[in-house]
Amino acid sequence: MRLAALLMLLTAGCATPPDVPPTYRFDNGLWFNGRTFASATAYVADGALHFSDDVIAAETVVDLDGGYVVPPYCEGHNHNLGGGADGVEETVQAYLKDGVFYAMMPGSFALYRGLIADKLNNPKSIDVAFANNGLTGSGGHPRALRESVMERFERYPDFTKETLPDKGYFEAETLEQLRGKWALILAERPDFVKVMLYFSEEYEQRKSDPEYYGKRGLNPSFMPELVRLAHDAGLRVAVHVESDADMATALRAGAGADIIAHLPSNDSTARISDETIALVKETNPTLITTLSVAKRKFEKRSPELYADIREAQRENLTRLTDAAANLVVGSDTHWDTSQEEARYLVSLGPLDNRAILKMWTQNCARTVFPERKIGRLAEGYEASFLVLEGDPLADFENTSRIFLRVKDGALLEIENE
Ligand SMILES: [Zn+2]
Repeated sequence: MRLAALLMLLTAGCATPPDVPPTYRFDNGLWFNGRTFASATAYVADGALHFSDDVIAAETVVDLDGGYVVPPYCEGHNHNLGGGADGVEETVQAYLKDGVFYAMMPGSFALYRGLIADKLNNPKSIDVAFANNGLTGSGGHPRALRESVMERFERYPDFTKETLPDKGYFEAETLEQLRGKWALILAERPDFVKVMLYFSEEYEQRKSDPEYYGKRGLNPSFMPELVRLAHDAGLRVAVHVESDADMATALRAGAGADIIAHLPSNDSTARISDETIALVKETNPTLITTLSVAKRKFEKRSPELYADIREAQRENLTRLTDAAANLVVGSDTHWDTSQEEARYLVSLGPLDNRAILKMWTQNCARTVFPERKIGRLAEGYEASFLVLEGDPLADFENTSRIFLRVKDGALLEIENE
């Protein structure tokens, strides 16, 4: 029904020269201000949002007909771009259709990132930040995963098991090796850096035991040096963690890791300790949820364990919220765009719709591109937003009832069912 309103765009007389972006006025919208929805007239000029009581001349007037305007959604953790050269258009369309305009890829191949670069980061696509390859210990995660995905699904056709090192992962077992790999990491020009901790409290026991091939990470004592190298280069550090001890190690390293790429309870009943909560308060890292991983792994296979994990997730989320942690929605699930993760968070209970909406928009957008004015509907911010049929604070399902998408100051044309 709302599409009919769109077809009735009132176009005023003055034609725009072809190289100047059109100016829009949006009437009768309810705009999310971080707390609630407030009625406003908004203008879009030169790709930026303006809220003015004075009437600004606009070529095109759009009647939003009481629609609810929210910032675009955002995926804080996925690997569905940068792991190959095929299927990029489909992935991008799935993101745009779900209203997800920004995504973070903590772990990808520099080769594939280069091959698909022209299909991303433009007004008609999504904007993506890549870490390229992650840094780990010898025989550490994600080596075994890369090798098995290559064998089972015939992925990474440009590589063999023998050519994966330094292309699909970086391994360092000494500080000297770490500095050598650091030069390679920088040469690939990542948007941020990814490093693996994997039950670092058992690092010594796991490091040369074949049982733990692919189930170990970087020597935790290297973390302060890695954080220092990254911060000196102006790069943020995102850490893969498995345990509460990993999370504490990451936050204690030098100035502290910037991003924790998973909550420890994403696939276990791990509780976040008082010490780690104190570190979160002290260093204010970004914490990516990826909690629906538990559903994918355990809902059918082990319902009792799944129920216990959900209980741990509720406790952890409640305590992190009480600590004012910067939580961000991220799925770490190939076929998700983060929409399923957001719904999963709703299903857990402790967070209200407003908190999840902020984690999915504002918190996430400024994590993916900290230097950009995105993720909020405020004066001078980039003109990217979604218009919903109904109030998402009253019913979260309304987040997927999108009737208009605007990206970089222009209306996006996406097929609605
Ligand atoms: Zn991941």
